[in-house]
Amino acid sequence: MNPSALRVLVVDDDEEDFLILRDLLSDYSQGRFELEWVATLAEGVKALRENRHDVFLVDYQLGPDNGMDLVRLAVSEGSAHRPVIMLTGQGNSEVDREALSAGASDYLVKGNIDGEKLARSLRYAAERARQAGETEEVKQRYRRLFELSPFPTWVYDTASRRFVAVNDAMVESYGFSRDELLAMDVGGISGLADPQDAAMRGKSAAESGHRTGNAGVVRHWRKDGSSMWMDLTAHHLRLDGRDCTMVIANDLTRQRESQGRLLMLERAVESSVNGIVICDAQADDMPIVYVNPAFEEMTGFTSAEAVGRNCRFLRGQDHQQPELLLLRDALSRGDDCNVILRNYRKDGSRFWNHLFLSPVRDGQGAVTHYVGIQNDLTERRRAEAQLTYTANHDPVTGLPRFPILEAALAVLLEDERTRVTVFFIDLDRFHNINESMGHLIGDEALGIIAGRMSVVLGGPGYLARFAGDEFVAMSRGLDDAEVLALADRLRTAIGQPIEGDGYRLFLTASIGISHSPDHGQSAMELLRRAEAAMTRAKRQGRDGVCEFSAGQMQELEDRLLLGGRIRDAIRLGEMQLHYQPQLDTRSRQLIGLEALVRWHSPELGLVPPGRFIPIAESLGLMPELGLWVLEEACRQLRAWMDAGFGRFTVAVNFSALQLQRPDIVALVAQALARHGVPAERLEIELTESSLMENVERVQGRLAELKALGVSLSLDDFGTGYSSLSYLKQFSLDKLKIDRSFVRDLPGDPNDAAIARTIIAMGHQLHMVVAAEGVETDAQASFLGDIGCDELQGFLFARPAPAAEIEPLLPRA
Ligand code: C2E
Ligand code: CA
Ligand code: CA
Repeated sequence: MNPSALRVLVVDDDEEDFLILRDLLSDYSQGRFELEWVATLAEGVKALRENRHDVFLVDYQLGPDNGMDLVRLAVSEGSAHRPVIMLTGQGNSEVDREALSAGASDYLVKGNIDGEKLARSLRYAAERARQAGETEEVKQRYRRLFELSPFPTWVYDTASRRFVAVNDAMVESYGFSRDELLAMDVGGISGLADPQDAAMRGKSAAESGHRTGNAGVVRHWRKDGSSMWMDLTAHHLRLDGRDCTMVIANDLTRQRESQGRLLMLERAVESSVNGIVICDAQADDMPIVYVNPAFEEMTGFTSAEAVGRNCRFLRGQDHQQPELLLLRDALSRGDDCNVILRNYRKDGSRFWNHLFLSPVRDGQGAVTHYVGIQNDLTERRRAEAQLTYTANHDPVTGLPRFPILEAALAVLLEDERTRVTVFFIDLDRFHNINESMGHLIGDEALGIIAGRMSVVLGGPGYLARFAGDEFVAMSRGLDDAEVLALADRLRTAIGQPIEGDGYRLFLTASIGISHSPDHGQSAMELLRRAEAAMTRAKRQGRDGVCEFSAGQMQELEDRLLLGGRIRDAIRLGEMQLHYQPQLDTRSRQLIGLEALVRWHSPELGLVPPGRFIPIAESLGLMPELGLWVLEEACRQLRAWMDAGFGRFTVAVNFSALQLQRPDIVALVAQALARHGVPAERLEIELTESSLMENVERVQGRLAELKALGVSLSLDDFGTGYSSLSYLKQFSLDKLKIDRSFVRDLPGDPNDAAIARTIIAMGHQLHMVVAAEGVETDAQASFLGDIGCDELQGFLFARPAPAAEIEPLLPRA
C-alpha cells in the first residue's frame, strides 16, 4: 500500500476492460495508482458516498444503467473532491459533450487509451480536484473571517453599488436589518446627498472600489438618522465573476468624543496596547513630549530617545509616501486624520503604522498638542497577504496556480486584435528524477526551473504550474519568429545544469505552442491545442518545440467529419481491400500480396487510408476495422485457394491498438479457422511504435502469434526507433525498408548507406529484408545488388481490387 498512490475506482460492467486499464497503468507507472473495480452503478454510487477514492473512472454503458448518472450525482453532491472520468466505448462526440457538460473531468475512448494518456488524465483530474478543494477551504476561511469580524464589514457590487454581503457587526452598528441592507446600495449609509466627506479628502476608493487600502474617515448614517465617523479600508475583489468592493469599517466616533478628555486619561494611555505619542503643537518643529510603553515596544525606541524629536524620524529615508500629504494637509488645517504609514523600528525593520492623529485644543480653540494613536498593522497585513497568496500559488515553485493564469488568459483573449500564445511545457522524463533522487530534489529542481522560466518570460505573471512537471506560459503580441525565439530561450533556460548539494541534473522539455485566433479563442481551447502540440513534440523524440499545426487542425476537423461515419462504413460495406504484389528480387516472381484498405464513401468519394486510419485509431474504431480487414483477407485468400491458384502469402497491416487487445491471438486463430486458411499463408505487418508500447506484453503476443504459424513483418523500418538491440527482443521474420529511403536510391549516398546497413543488419538477425515504394528499374537493380530479398512498388503493380490482381497470381 503506497500512501501517496492515487486511489482509482473503475466502474465498468466488463471485468476485461478493468484488467486492460490496470495493465496499462501498471506498465506505465509502478505503484502510483491503486485500482479497484466494481461492476454496477449502484456499487459505484455507494463507493462515491464512502469517499475512499480520489478519482472515478466510469463506463458510459453500465449494463442497464448509464454511467453519466454517476457524474451527475458526484456533481450534485459536491464533485470538486471527487472527479469522474467517463469511459466511452465509441468515439461519439455527442457522448463526449454530454459527459463534459454534465461535469465529468474528462472522457476517454476505450481502445484508444494508452498508459501515458490514462495516467495523465487521472493525475489532472485529481490535481484539479485537489486545487478546487483547497480553494473551497480558503473561501470558507475568508467567509469565517468576514462573518466573525468585530468590525462592520460589507461587500458591494462596484458597478451597481448594491450590497452583496454584510456581516453581523454591520447590522449591529448601522441599525438596519440584514435584509434591508441587502436591498439597498451604498448611498443608503454614506448619504449621496453628502458626498463631500469622501470628495474632501480626494479619495473615494471605498466608493469607486478599484484601489485597495485605507479609504479614509467618512461620515455614515444609521437607520435612526444619527451619524458616526467610520474609518474605512477597501479591497477590490472578484466575487462570482463580478467586480466587488469589500469595505471594513472602524467606528471612530467614540474616540472623537473623548478627545477633550485625553490629557486626563494618562493612566489609561499608559496601559494602552496601542502606541501613543503626544507632540507639542506650539513648540518649534512639534517635538514629541510623551510616548507610552506600547510605543516603545512597537518601535524599539525608548522614551528618552523619542522625546524632543519630531515624529518624522520614524519614517527613516522613506519620504515618498502618498499618505504623508494627507497628514500634512490635516495638520495645517488643525484637523484630525487617519493614515497608514511605512515606519521603521530602531533595528531598521519596517512596519505599517496605522496612525490616528487628533489635535487637542485649549479653551480658545487653539491647538496645543497632537495626540497620535498608532497601531502596528504588519502582522495583520502579513496574515491577509499570506492567505491570498497560498490560495493562489503553488508552494513548490511559488508560481501562480493554473486557474489564476487561466483567468489572466481569458482577459487577454478579450482583446481580439492581440495575438495570445500559449506554451505547454512538459519536462522530459522528469519522473525518473523523482524516482531516482527523491521528491525533495525533484521539487527543488522544479523550483529552480520555474524561476529561470519566469525570468525568461519577464515576470511570474505569465507562467503557472499546471500539474506535476507541466507548466503553462503565455505571451501576447508576439509574431511567429518571436514566439519560437521565446520557446528556444525557455528550452535553454531549462537545459542549464541544475547543481545542488552533491548532485548535478540535466533536464530537457517538450514544448507545444498554440495561439489565438488561429487555434482558438478560449483559454481551454488554446490549452488543449498547445498540449496536443506538446504531445507531438514528445512523439518526435522529446526536447523540442512543436506548434499546433494546420495538419492537426485538419485532423481535428476530419475527426468530426469522418469520425461518425467510419463505423457505419464498415457495416454498409463501403470498405474494400486492394492488393499489392510483393516480388522475389531475384526471380521477380509474385510471392505475396499486401492487403490495403480503401473507403469508398458515397458522400466523400474515395478516402485514402492515410486520412481515415489515424481517425479510426483515435476514436477507438481500429480494432473493429482491423478485424474486418483480417476477415476479408482470409475470405479472399480462401476464394483464391479454391480457385486453384499457387502458393503466395497475404499480408495485413495491424495498428498498434489491435496488438494491445487481449483477445487478438484468439481472433486471428478464429479467422484462419473459419476460412480454412493455413496460418503460414498469413503475414502480419506491424509498426515499430506498436512494439514500443507494453514491451513485455507485446513480446508475449508476438510469440503466441508465431506459435500459430503466422509470420510477422516490421513495416516502415527506419522511420522510428530502429534500434537493433531492441529488435532482437521480438521474434520477427521480415523487415520492410520504408519507402522514404528507397525514393532517392541509388543516387543519394546517405540513403544508399542506410539501405545497405538495414539489409546487413536484418540478415544478421536472420530476417528477410523487403523494400517498398520501388518505382524505378534503377532502384530495383540497386536493391538487388545490395542483397534486398523482396521488392514491392508501383514499378511492378499498384494496389488494385482482387479481380484486377488475379491475372498476376501464380498458377498451381
Ligand atoms: P503501408 O503499410 O506502408 O502501405 C504501403 C503504402 O505505400 C500504400 O499506401 C501503397 O499504396 C503505397 N505504395 C506502394 N507502392 C508504392 C510506390 O511505389 N510508390 C509510392 N509512392 N507509394 C507506394 P496506402 O494504401 O495509401 O496505405 C497507406 C498506409 O495506410 C499504409 O502504409 C498503412 O500504414 C495504412 N493502411 C492501409 N491499409 C491498412 C489496414 O488494413 N490496416 C492498417 N492498420 N493500416 C492500413
Ligand atoms: Ca504495410
Ligand atoms: Ca510500409
